[in-house]
Amino acid sequence: MTDATLSTQDNARQVLQSVFGYSDFRNHQAEIVEQLIDGGDALVLMPTGGGKSLCFQIPALIRSGTAIVISPLIALMQDQVDALQQNGIRAACLNSALDGMAVREVEQQLTRGELDLLYIAPERLMMPRMQRLLSQVHIALFAIDEAHCVSQWGHDFRPEYIQLSILHQYFPDVPRIALTATADERTQQEIIQRLGLEQARVFNNGFDRPNIRYRIAENNGNAREQLLRFIRNEHDGEAGIVYCLSRKRVDDTAKWLSDKGLRALPYHAGLSNETRQQNQSRFLREDGIIIVATIAFGMGIDKPDVRFVAHLNLPKSIEAYYQETGRAGRDGLPSDAWMLYGLQDVITLRQMQESSDADDSYKRIERHKLDAMLGLCEQESCRRQALLHYFGDRLDKPCGNCDNCLSPPETWDATVAAQKALSCAYRAGQRFGVNYLVDVLQGKANSRIQQFGHDKLTVFGIGKELNTSQWRGLFRQLIARRLLSVDLDGHGSVQLSQSARPILRGEQTLTLRKLAKVSAGKTRSSNFANTAHSQLWEALRAHRKQLADEQGVPAYVIFHDATLAEMAERQPQNREQLALISGIGERKLDAYGDSFLEVIHENIGSQPQSGDSNAETVLLLCQGMTPLEIAHRRELTVATVYRHLAKAIREGELELADVVALDEAELQEIRFAFEHSEDKRLKPIYEALGGEYDYGILECVRAAS
Ligand code: ADP
Ligand code: ZN
Repeated sequence: MTDATLSTQDNARQVLQSVFGYSDFRNHQAEIVEQLIDGGDALVLMPTGGGKSLCFQIPALIRSGTAIVISPLIALMQDQVDALQQNGIRAACLNSALDGMAVREVEQQLTRGELDLLYIAPERLMMPRMQRLLSQVHIALFAIDEAHCVSQWGHDFRPEYIQLSILHQYFPDVPRIALTATADERTQQEIIQRLGLEQARVFNNGFDRPNIRYRIAENNGNAREQLLRFIRNEHDGEAGIVYCLSRKRVDDTAKWLSDKGLRALPYHAGLSNETRQQNQSRFLREDGIIIVATIAFGMGIDKPDVRFVAHLNLPKSIEAYYQETGRAGRDGLPSDAWMLYGLQDVITLRQMQESSDADDSYKRIERHKLDAMLGLCEQESCRRQALLHYFGDRLDKPCGNCDNCLSPPETWDATVAAQKALSCAYRAGQRFGVNYLVDVLQGKANSRIQQFGHDKLTVFGIGKELNTSQWRGLFRQLIARRLLSVDLDGHGSVQLSQSARPILRGEQTLTLRKLAKVSAGKTRSSNFANTAHSQLWEALRAHRKQLADEQGVPAYVIFHDATLAEMAERQPQNREQLALISGIGERKLDAYGDSFLEVIHENIGSQPQSGDSNAETVLLLCQGMTPLEIAHRRELTVATVYRHLAKAIREGELELADVVALDEAELQEIRFAFEHSEDKRLKPIYEALGGEYDYGILECVRAAS
């Protein structure tokens, strides 16, 4: 290593610490920054939240001249500029949202060499006037953000991006960096070719978003309740996005959540422009708003502290799922991608696809994509491994941060049940939908069934061992695996596929994932939620909001949640200690340090001490961890953790509701089972309830009675 590179690195690190307040580079940041400072080109593939911005912002500060940042996301430019200015960086933007006066002022700053960074929309960059201006100033580098927009095959194609190739011709000596979070192999090649980046070093950080926890559960028929419980238990007061398939469902869900006291706003193409704008900007600027939206919402949403993305419907491909869930946790903090899906989703999407007018080859691709998505839903092993594999990326070990890793699903031999379901469909003439077939299997002699004489079939009433939702789940799995197909007529009748035969004939067995009850345990996913609901945290948030309002900027522009959470946890007592917290550079320390120290001083609380094993479990629960997470952290089995909790309930230390989130009906169901059992052993109760509730939950209910 030469002296020159040493000093480049030292220099970059110094800026990272003093200006941005971060102690270390992440991912490939250090190498990318060095490549640019030394005058080379770079193509950067880094997942959302990976830290792309610093890759060009630091070289912009170190190289002489102004860095030109090209971005299609006009709506975000001002926020980005505000955020940079908060760190004492001289930044401005030029886009169609500015009036003539403002434009001229920025242009003058540019020509006088007073800007470190200038953000600009691609169409403006191409204007002759802008080209003339640029030829007169010293340019530090070009950063081309959202570089996948140059790809004609992608979903975000921008014709203006094609012209960006001239940058290289006009300014051959200025280093360029192209950045994107979404580019498969083909798109990468296209970016290189169209932007003339053949000489660029490629930095590929893969696609993984380790801070996002993937969870996919069945819609148990009451999706809204499931959603509400999820939000209340895990994301109370936090910002999130809820995706629904239809406008009507968006409106209904937003209204329903609002009626329940949550701050939820709708967003879809059917609303007036004004309402949409207003709801979007409230979501961006206020703390803890939930936006309920169709997929029309999302492009250009760069809010860093979205703590969850919930899907109430199945997306039609893994690409769509990954893009939508990717809007969670851009700040790198723990976040949830939570989805419900059910039989109806599968039927609706299959029908929509089959009945579209698209040509056959297109349909075939779409079908393939939906199958992959369904495969992900029914997956028994690590979801993240499957997701990354789909994008050609690899993860060597199961991730430990998806539902399947955290509580491995049970499987069961479903061969006999599947045979019953398949032969029922077959004997009823392959003309009926799932609800009807389930009634036949369960032996419900309603008038329709009698009218068709299906109460005389051999399959009538042979399926009493499963309840309705279990049968529906089984049919969904059979459809997802294409053992049954759904007809095109819109009535949803199901037919047997070729691949069903070996199972019917007993030549092949079928193992399926057990239909799990969505975790009824009280769960809270964020680590930082440990501190999140303390009094100090709330006070820090309130103070941040006040500062943000005074300046008319979003709260995260003042400090990110991560910075605030660290403050709440470490409770610094003076400026020196405060300066050690990630995200506080010199400028912010000067501007806000004293007032935040004051808030800490006023709200400081004594930390409880951890004692014996039982007490420690209780303490972690009170800090917001789930039984699963506690088990993980303490390297105990989940059963042990529940035993601790049950003991605490028995001794009156905890309420049942602190531990499990069961609704009244569920509680009654369990209590009823206990009352009608001879002894108080758990196994018969567990079985009587069809395995729907974990032993741990039953143990806690028993402890409470
Ligand atoms: P991207 O553009 O790749 O989605 P950002 O550049 O917005 O990501 O960075 C995501 C978050 O990570 C931001 O809050 C940013 O301040 C933070 N960040 C970036 N680099 C670092 C680092 N080296 N140390 C700590 N935080 C970082
Ligand atoms: Zn996993």
